[in-house]
Amino acid sequence: MSENIQQKIEQLREELHQHNYNYYILDEASISDFEFDTLLKELQELEAQYPEFHDDNSPTLRVGGAVTKNFPTIQHKFRMYSLDNSYDFEDLEDWEKRIIKTIDDPVEFVAELKYDGASISILYENGKLVQAVTRGDGFQGDEITPNVRTISDIPLTLKGDFPSHFFMRGEIYLTRKNFDKLNKLREEEGLDPFMNPRNTASGSLKMQDSAEVRKRSLSSVLYQYISEEVPAETHWELLQKAQGWGFKTSQQAKLCRTLDEVKEFISFWDVERHNLPFEIDGIVLKVNSLQQQRQLGYTAKSPRWAMAYKFKAEKVETELKSVSYQVGRTGAITPVANLKPVLLAGTIVKRASLHNEDIIKKLGLHEHDFVFVEKGGEIIPKIVDVNKGKRTSDSKEIEYIKNCPECGTELVKIIDQAIHFCPNELHCPPQVVGRMIHYVSRKALNIDNLGSETIEQLYREKLIENPADFYTLTKEQILPLERMAEKSAQNIISGIEKSKEISFEKVLYGIGIKHVGETVAKKLVKNFATIDELKEATVEKLCQVEDIGAKIAFSIVEFFKNPENILMIERLKSYGVQLEKGESTNEVLSNVLEGKTFLFTGKLSLFTRESAEEMVEKHGGKNISAVSKNLNFLVVGEKAGSKLKKAQDIGTIEILDEQQFLDLIEKQ
Ligand code: AMP
Ligand code: ZN
Repeated sequence: MSENIQQKIEQLREELHQHNYNYYILDEASISDFEFDTLLKELQELEAQYPEFHDDNSPTLRVGGAVTKNFPTIQHKFRMYSLDNSYDFEDLEDWEKRIIKTIDDPVEFVAELKYDGASISILYENGKLVQAVTRGDGFQGDEITPNVRTISDIPLTLKGDFPSHFFMRGEIYLTRKNFDKLNKLREEEGLDPFMNPRNTASGSLKMQDSAEVRKRSLSSVLYQYISEEVPAETHWELLQKAQGWGFKTSQQAKLCRTLDEVKEFISFWDVERHNLPFEIDGIVLKVNSLQQQRQLGYTAKSPRWAMAYKFKAEKVETELKSVSYQVGRTGAITPVANLKPVLLAGTIVKRASLHNEDIIKKLGLHEHDFVFVEKGGEIIPKIVDVNKGKRTSDSKEIEYIKNCPECGTELVKIIDQAIHFCPNELHCPPQVVGRMIHYVSRKALNIDNLGSETIEQLYREKLIENPADFYTLTKEQILPLERMAEKSAQNIISGIEKSKEISFEKVLYGIGIKHVGETVAKKLVKNFATIDELKEATVEKLCQVEDIGAKIAFSIVEFFKNPENILMIERLKSYGVQLEKGESTNEVLSNVLEGKTFLFTGKLSLFTRESAEEMVEKHGGKNISAVSKNLNFLVVGEKAGSKLKKAQDIGTIEILDEQQFLDLIEKQ
């Protein structure tokens, strides 16, 4: 029986891996989304029922969920070198000359796109993804395996004839399309947009909640095989093999027999790169023969057998017309240069980001200066230099504003940050709107049909000013808005009504206390059952809650000091919004398990794993996900496997059967 189940589970996993490969690597869907989800669900159910067949590389784990607080530091077995840079063909010719000094035979090159993302090293053992580590300083990086597992086009298990132990290196990046999508979502949630795809990709890899990483829709390209065991003579062959094992390698990579072919490749992509669905910042050239690579070796910082060719950022000169200042929904100020329109990298540019005061000062920008504008990785171009020769003697230096352009409040600059903020959170128009957009967003009160445009209109019409005002809106007030039909007005009103059922933790997240994100809100609700309890909590008391530090604690106390916030909360309460923990969720039954950690393994028969974990929490204990010295109790069902063995090896872990676990709780 159990062998059959295991077979079934393995077959489902294999099938799903194959469909995933067809879709993400070959770009050919072999099954509908619905069918895929059905298979996935079937597997999920089997895995939940038979935890003894757990596999870290199961396709079900792509959805993420593992939360990592601190990423372990891992030493790279093979150092991750940087690349030397070249900027023109002459640099390349010099490089070839240096190579020829060491190598007598003809030299071939592989030319690849230089993806602009974050580099990663992934260890595969016996065809399974085992560990993924960031580049870090080249000698050691952060282990981010759970996050990398969520990336759809990274194979969790390999196909074909692969070596038993090797590292694949590559780049994790965001396509332009997914980057835009992400920013649109952020806008809908009342958050400021991300600046560029590269920083967003590397930032995403370091997020603590892997389910959040999943939502970023990252992509990968793998460009280097490294191991003691090398199953080929050339880099090109290794790339072909890697593709066969299931890796996404670059479709544009090209084997070049001569340096002239390399130059052609570069000239082609210098123009065509603007039409790629992702950003590149150059080309990478590698000597094809691995034997020649070994002969050439490394300098202190980079391989002699590889070279990056950096595209010149396209740069044009134009006139600065004025500087304006935008206030983000979180109150952050962004200075923007308004330019005389000019053609740059195929698009007309009218504005450029100036980022912050320090950058303006560094440029020494004056009114009506002629400036050089460059298009780098950022969405909007930036000013890189000033043509001082064209400056008139009476032109005045740009002076950074002292007050918020939206509400007049004096700006503050936070120590350690170059950015100015408007501190008038409760009355500065973009911040007021941002707060209400955040309140209705999906992860908060989830009021459908109430988009950011409608909120802006309602605010302009002075119908709403803070989240409590939603609950006094009437259909008659909404109907006269632009493009508003009877049906959508009704939907808004029903949506607002329905939000009264949303749980306390989501409301707490929704009211927008600075630094109180989803996870913190959950932790707070576990420790403070009502908003009034939270209101009374001191900084010291708050700091006792797991994961809550002084910064968050101060921000909470500050929030409740403000009478306007108190008024809003009292109003929300009177309209019936949930500001207390619901009956069923997380009720505490006892604290007999306080300070104790638990893990369940094997097939459980007295209860499901889920309800067992719930019991642990209700009695004050904590569930952890792996066997380690931090584990106090391992509860074993039928056919427990490697976890049991590991726990026995550690020796300090108490091993219980299901009945003994129940006795433990009932001992109270
Ligand atoms: P640099 O950071 O300028 O020294 O350039 C080296 C980085 O280029 C590597 O760490 C990789 O992250 C990145 N890179 C992007 N595409 C490639 C590629 N095809 N081959 C090697 N490195 C690449
Ligand atoms: Zn303001």
